[in-house]
Amino acid sequence: MKQIYNDYDKVAFEIHNWQKDLFFRALKEKNNIVMGYFSLADVIGHLSFGKKTKMRVIYMELDEIAQKAMKYADKMLIISDHGMQPIGRFGDHAKYGFWSFSEETEWINPRITEFKGLIKNWR
Ligand SMILES: [Zn+2]
Repeated sequence: MKQIYNDYDKVAFEIHNWQKDLFFRALKEKNNIVMGYFSLADVIGHLSFGKKTKMRVIYMELDEIAQKAMKYADKMLIISDHGMQPIGRFGDHAKYGFWSFSEETEWINPRITEFKGLIKNWR
């Protein structure tokens, strides 16, 4: 069983590293807007649901990406597409999520569709 976890994590990190390379390549091209998608927390989070030490490593990796990305970006908006809730062996998606913006905002609990207004007004 442990080998299955190791193989799964290996593939998840290979995909993650590919996503990360594409993201930083786009950031370095100085585009007006760059959107990155990172699936690592979701794919590892399911099979390793409840393994706090492993998930801490995953979130530290994502935090490191955010810190590094700020060297190339004027502003950064981070949005999760869902949260996780303790249902079953592998957890399940929750309707709540996480968001963080690099600047002050008045928002309290924005819906995911409301971020469009913010992005449209970026200069
Ligand atoms: Zn998922």
